[in-house]
Amino acid sequence: MEEILNYIGGKLLEPQSNQYIDNYEPATGSVYSQIPNSDEKDVAIAVEAAKNAFPGWSNTPASTRSAIMIRIADLIAANLDTLAAAESKDNGKPVSLAKSVDIPRAESNIRFFATAILHFASEAHIMENSAINYTNRKPIGVVGCISPWNLPLYLFTWKIAPALAAGNCVVAKPSEITPYTAFLFSKLCIEAGLPAGVLNIVHGLGASTGNAIVSHKSVKAISFTGGTTTGAHIAAIAAPMFKKLSLELGGKNPNIIFADCDFDKMIATTVRSSFSNQGQICLCGSRILVEKSIYEKFKTAFVEKVKKMSVGDPADPETKMGAVVSEAHMNKVLSYIELAQKEGGKILTGGQRVFLEGKNKNGYFIPPTIIEGLDENCRTNKEEIFGPVVTIAPFDTEAEAVRIANSTEYGLAATVWTSNLNTAHRVAANIESGIVWINTWLLRDLRTPFGGVKNSGVGREGGFEALKFFTESQNVCIEL
Ligand code: NAD
Repeated sequence: MEEILNYIGGKLLEPQSNQYIDNYEPATGSVYSQIPNSDEKDVAIAVEAAKNAFPGWSNTPASTRSAIMIRIADLIAANLDTLAAAESKDNGKPVSLAKSVDIPRAESNIRFFATAILHFASEAHIMENSAINYTNRKPIGVVGCISPWNLPLYLFTWKIAPALAAGNCVVAKPSEITPYTAFLFSKLCIEAGLPAGVLNIVHGLGASTGNAIVSHKSVKAISFTGGTTTGAHIAAIAAPMFKKLSLELGGKNPNIIFADCDFDKMIATTVRSSFSNQGQICLCGSRILVEKSIYEKFKTAFVEKVKKMSVGDPADPETKMGAVVSEAHMNKVLSYIELAQKEGGKILTGGQRVFLEGKNKNGYFIPPTIIEGLDENCRTNKEEIFGPVVTIAPFDTEAEAVRIANSTEYGLAATVWTSNLNTAHRVAANIESGIVWINTWLLRDLRTPFGGVKNSGVGREGGFEALKFFTESQNVCIEL
């Protein structure tokens, strides 16, 4: 059985305790590798390595840091097939998706911040005839990056890249559910010549390894992506220690579809925004609100398209829907489908676990599921399910659609479909979310601010926002 190792101080290391955790392949339900069950001793060694590396790395010219990071990006590109196959096996996502989205995005995350740092400048504030202030943006020191299982290497690199580019040293933890590509990434960092201790990857459980990173007094900032409850727990530990925090949390995103939209484009995109990555993207729209005059037309077309989608072996290049990430997560999603029925929902397609044949017979497969007939205030419409499950409902007026869209505690992303520019701007402005897509979905420019409002998080990632997060501003005032 292959053992995944920690990456600490430039070396691949066993955990101090020699304890390991089983790592499952979701498409077969079998254990295929083991990951270190790291504890606070491993974290302490990683933090020490990062502290030792910080003076050197933070004083390395940005152009040299950039060049090393570009070598890492090149190595990701050169290993696309291996990384995509590994991501698919570890997460259950179709290999075609890992190859077209996850791994290319991991590469561009590194490349983007490797070059962004070359253009990152700070302000000067001039007091007429009396003084000049300038803002000195300094790296923070040792920072912690903790990421989830849904887009493993994609989100892991999205945090690490700006932290490293800005001159910090990092102690990072990928999800224990999908650790494999982070392990392969550590080997690429060694090959690219990243100096020892600049990046340290410690594998293990959230409650022990993750908690130890968050609690360590020398870790001065935490960038976390994951569930809202975990985010609240992390904030409670970090706040009294005055750590900088960026929290990217859960969502319950609305899609608002007006009758005047481009219907064909809307339907094709809505299928994607509902079920890409088995619905396990924080940005997936899970509450679909449709203007009443086209509700029946929408329902017929949407259900017909979705019924044609079938789950399959993620390793097959033709598969469009793979397995959900774990048995526990599959059971959670199925329990929500059961709840939806108890709440009065009608399943229009999907709804039950699917058993495939052969090596996939014990895999965790749920077909795309559409539910209608639910009240906007029921739990199914309020709580994050994070699987291939959407609800559909009609609305009468724009005001009603906006009210329903805003009626959850979350505020991550929203999608609006209309050909009326005024409607688009007005609805976007009135929606409580960090991101609004109009007539599109998941179109990303890495320079834009990314993050949520309400229980979907605090802080923004992306572009210079991320570089600002990973630096501390110091004002220097010179009297003339
Ligand atoms: P999770 O909160 O269970 O775990 C996320 C990470 O935090 C993992 O690495 C985990 O080990 C670690 N962790 C868990 N408990 C911890 C603790 N006490 N201290 C420190 N670290 C701890 O989330 P998940 O189930 O892996 O991911 C799914 C969630 O992530 C969903 O809610 C989804 O919406 C959210 N998500 C949000 C975004 C976004 O950008 N807002 C993106 C992707 C996923």
